[in-house]
Amino acid sequence: MFKILRYLIFVSLISSGYYLFIFEYLNISEKYIFEEEIIKKEIVEDKKEIIREKKEEVASPNIKKNIDKEQFVEKRIEILQGDTFVSILEKLNFKQKKIYEIISKTEESFDLKKIKTGEIISVFENNFGEIKKIEFFKDSKTIISINLDKEINLNVRELAKETFIESKEYTIIESLFSDGIKNSVSPDILIKIISLFSFDLDFQRDIRVNTVVSISYEFDEIIETGRLEYKDIKYASIIIDGKQLEYFKFITDDGYTDYFNREGKNVKKSILKTPLDGARISSNFGMRKHPISGFNKMHKGVDFAAPTGTPVYAGGNGVIEYVGRNGGYGKYIRIRHNNGYKTAYAHLSNYKKGISKGVRINQGDIIGYVGNTGNSTGPHLHYEIIYQNKHINPLKLKLPSGKILEGDELEKFKEEYKIIYADHLSLLYE
Ligand SMILES: [Zn+2]
Repeated sequence: MFKILRYLIFVSLISSGYYLFIFEYLNISEKYIFEEEIIKKEIVEDKKEIIREKKEEVASPNIKKNIDKEQFVEKRIEILQGDTFVSILEKLNFKQKKIYEIISKTEESFDLKKIKTGEIISVFENNFGEIKKIEFFKDSKTIISINLDKEINLNVRELAKETFIESKEYTIIESLFSDGIKNSVSPDILIKIISLFSFDLDFQRDIRVNTVVSISYEFDEIIETGRLEYKDIKYASIIIDGKQLEYFKFITDDGYTDYFNREGKNVKKSILKTPLDGARISSNFGMRKHPISGFNKMHKGVDFAAPTGTPVYAGGNGVIEYVGRNGGYGKYIRIRHNNGYKTAYAHLSNYKKGISKGVRINQGDIIGYVGNTGNSTGPHLHYEIIYQNKHINPLKLKLPSGKILEGDELEKFKEEYKIIYADHLSLLYE
């Protein structure tokens, strides 16, 4: 009896395992066939195009001239979730050896792990359906071409661009941002405007209905793709309580991109008291019971509670002095500013790409993101201002005034701002 029962259990286990295997197999192969069908269909359609082109060629009197020239048909493949460059090459029926060659050649100038879902890989086939070239964007301005002749060679091509200046003026009815969008100002520019104005304005209190905003900015157009890349604000003006605030872009002699009013006075404060948006103070500077150790300890900074991933801005112009893990501080950045000031940022979840020791940054640049690393009980930014190696209370900081241009630098600025302003007016009213 017991033997029979054991036998039955054994058989049922085997059969259910077999069933699961078949089920998964069908699932996988169905998916695979489906994907292959799409590719086949695309190829068939491309072939049709070749035929169509050929017919046109026949109809054309230039047929002899063109007959030997190889025609390529471009097939565009979107990178889907889960795709890798290798899996795409496999789907295109490349042999493993060829795939290896293509990958190692390409990785000489591009990290293929950086290829992103949603991007397009273009594949060029000749009349015989042989893939002769693969192209994709390295970034918005650079194309990588992999030419597949007897030898594989790589061609990295910068796309030509044209630079434009654009001026806009609009009236705020709802908000600086939403009315900007309605007046077709790019969000990239609006974010920069808000960050520029935020040194002087409290948006909720200061901006009223019918406030006029006037701005001028640069952008590049990538000619081949028509893509726009927004650059610096050149001029911005807003009138608050009958007082006009003006901001002119100027690159100072020490190399910082900054904004000054007509008198050559820097509109930015030298160090931000709050280096992130929308945060609330969760722990102040001074003596307190440490939330983890329980001991009474000096809290040498200010804690701002904010969700993980909230961008953290550089508190002032300066040079990155330290980036990396720093004990209980977790992921940590320290910036050295002018006049003996330093600022430190702790418990970050991550650093902004490109932030490393010695890198020069401008006030308001994103340097990292709020996190919960090191000795921390929840996502927050611990912010320190250090003056001549002593910690000071950021909220009580008597801010040294921003830079005031003098002498030759002031003269140079005056010449530049007049041009910026004249351009702005002519763009607005011409
Ligand atoms: Zn803290």
